[in-house]
Amino acid sequence: MIELKNLTKIYKTDAETVNALNSIDLDISSGQFLSIMGQSGSGKTTLMNILGCLDNPSSGKYLINGLDVSSLSDDQRARLRGELFGFVFQSYNLIPRMSALEQVELPLMYQIENKDRKLKAAQALESVGLVDRMHFNPNQLSGGQQQRVAIARSLVVDPQVILADEPTGALDSNTGEEIMAIFRELVEIKGITVILVTHELHIAEFASRVITLKDGLIISDKKV
Ligand code: ADP
Ligand code: MG
Repeated sequence: MIELKNLTKIYKTDAETVNALNSIDLDISSGQFLSIMGQSGSGKTTLMNILGCLDNPSSGKYLINGLDVSSLSDDQRARLRGELFGFVFQSYNLIPRMSALEQVELPLMYQIENKDRKLKAAQALESVGLVDRMHFNPNQLSGGQQQRVAIARSLVVDPQVILADEPTGALDSNTGEEIMAIFRELVEIKGITVILVTHELHIAEFASRVITLKDGLIISDKKV
């Protein structure tokens, strides 16, 4: 589904040139659960940004379902991003004073009618075990519950791929493992491809495959 070929990302600033990704080759099949590990500065976020069509590589190819992403216009790439990907972040990125249900409805705002939207949002909250909290605001929810709202928000558009950058980074280890169990369910039950960044091995090993980056290179690629 996803193919990276000889992919390189170079950041140039006045002071220096950083090779954030060095000729990466990576194939990710549909329905795979993949963790990306590596120390701070190893290129994890750079790789996620390119995978999610938020940034372009400096050279090399990125194919999604055979489609060459670099051949697309900015508009086409933005549309592809909206159709294919859901995003989850370490800091949840929820809006204060807005209920869980309203947050999850947001991505559907101009797409479908009010009644269907509420139903779909409630279903997404149900799939993360949070339907009984749907009228709560973020400040009435625990960190783990807030991250579940963020996962429901990423799910509501029926993405093929969820990209999660350190989704358990702000959570204690038990809560982090609960979040990982949800991702695993999404892979197993819904067949969603989940690509997740973490620097903790016990979190990474919820996935079926773990790759490790170092200095912009993939230094290991293991089945769990
Ligand atoms: P990680 O997520 O693994 O911590 P990043 O992908 O954020 O690593 O960064 C990889 C390398 O690229 C680091 O050396 C970082 O300083 C550099 N880098 C990241 N983003 C930029 C940027 N916008 N401009 C310049 N250098 C950057
Ligand atoms: Mg990072």
